Amino acid sequence: MKPDKNLLRHIPKVNDCLIQLSDREQLAGIPLNRIKKCTRAFLDSIRQDLLAGKPVDPGSLEGEEFLEKLSAYIIRYHQPRFKRVINATGVIIHTNLGRSVLPDMTMDELHRAGLRYSNLEFDLQTGERGSRYSLVEELLCELTGAEAALVVNNNAAAVLIVLDTLAKGREAIVSRGQLVEIGGSFRIPDVMARSGACLVEVGATNRTHLQDYREAITEHTGLLMKVHCSNYRIIGFTSEVANEELVALGRECGVPVMEDLGSGCFVDLSRFGLMREPTVQEVVRSGVDVVTFSGDKLLGGPQAGVIVGGKRIIDLIKKNPLNRALRIDKFTLAGLESILRFYLDSDLALQRIPTLSMIAAPVALIEKRARAFIEQVEEHLQGTCVLTLRDAASRVGGGAMPEQSVASKVVAIAPTVMSVNGLEQALRQMEIPVIGRVEEDRLLLDMRTVAEDELDLLAAGLCSALRASV
Ligand SMILES: *Cc1c(COP(=O)(O)O)cnc(C)c1O
Repeated sequence: MKPDKNLLRHIPKVNDCLIQLSDREQLAGIPLNRIKKCTRAFLDSIRQDLLAGKPVDPGSLEGEEFLEKLSAYIIRYHQPRFKRVINATGVIIHTNLGRSVLPDMTMDELHRAGLRYSNLEFDLQTGERGSRYSLVEELLCELTGAEAALVVNNNAAAVLIVLDTLAKGREAIVSRGQLVEIGGSFRIPDVMARSGACLVEVGATNRTHLQDYREAITEHTGLLMKVHCSNYRIIGFTSEVANEELVALGRECGVPVMEDLGSGCFVDLSRFGLMREPTVQEVVRSGVDVVTFSGDKLLGGPQAGVIVGGKRIIDLIKKNPLNRALRIDKFTLAGLESILRFYLDSDLALQRIPTLSMIAAPVALIEKRARAFIEQVEEHLQGTCVLTLRDAASRVGGGAMPEQSVASKVVAIAPTVMSVNGLEQALRQMEIPVIGRVEEDRLLLDMRTVAEDELDLLAAGLCSALRASV
């Protein structure tokens, strides 16, 4: 269809729009430049529609209705892009949704760190310059049993700086079964290449023996490296070398041993139905020289990469110029110290650190939450959907504990007034987006990762998403 030239002339002028918008209270506080830019874009999209032959009612290009639409467009555009969301996926450590959420008390520390000056790099005893991670080093040593510690930007950075310090221009020996890709294109072999370490793979995918490491050690060997398989597991005919054996070999040959634990946890979570994983303390006790792990996976803290180990090696890492480039900021430090202090009493940690308390929450509690939610929304939904309570499994996520999950309860929603994908999308595009998952033509909201004080918001979101379409 040919574009209607006449209609094109009906598109208002930018300046006329600006004059008409000038006394709108909704737009107060939005810089004029931005309003102008959005108005142009909005008018442009109408022009494109017309040129593409889409039907446009000339009446919709003027008057209050038009201004209302334009204002809504501007307000939507001006919203912050980084938003809070409600995680109803049941994946507790969800990397795409910000991994760990922090306790209230920890947020107070972050608040103060931002609002006031601090002793970030100032030694209050001597009045001289200090180092930022020294403020958490003692705590980390106390909790893990290590001699020394430092903290960098994330665990990927931790692995990089350890390799760069100990194995640059040398060989690092890794079991073939541990050359993992963590996700977000973090691959152990690539990180090794970046650090200048030369990768020497030993063993077969499913089995690696001590003898394989022994035979690969040469005068060029800088490091024996173990990597937690995190997001996958080889089952069946498998064999790995125990830390103690690898450490003994390393000592014998004068080669340090590092272990990238990935998640790294201070408490044994097997009592909550998860697989028994060695804690950081146990790994340190096994004699491994350097251990790295994330701050925001099972530890439940802010994004960080923690490195603990023997003093001689940690001192070398601290002196590496890369350390300056990978350093943590004051918010990380404030958050990490607060989280570590909880771990001084592991029961307190389990209660207060959300990542752990979500794992530990008994299924009866989740069921109660789900039932309360159903009761709360049901009367408002007026037949727009059918809600049922179902058994499900919440995943721990975050590359921690691959196929492991904890029993949970989900609210399964079958909309009658729209498609299930339509509902999923509508909830995802709310002011406070709700992220669930679609399975077998139902939208599932897993209540393990929805906080008690989010139920009202979730209920309001669901009602408005469904009613909007009635
Ligand atoms: C998650 C993970 C990493 C990367 O940690 P980040 O904190 O995300 O940088 C590295 N190694 C292993 C084994 C992991 O599981």
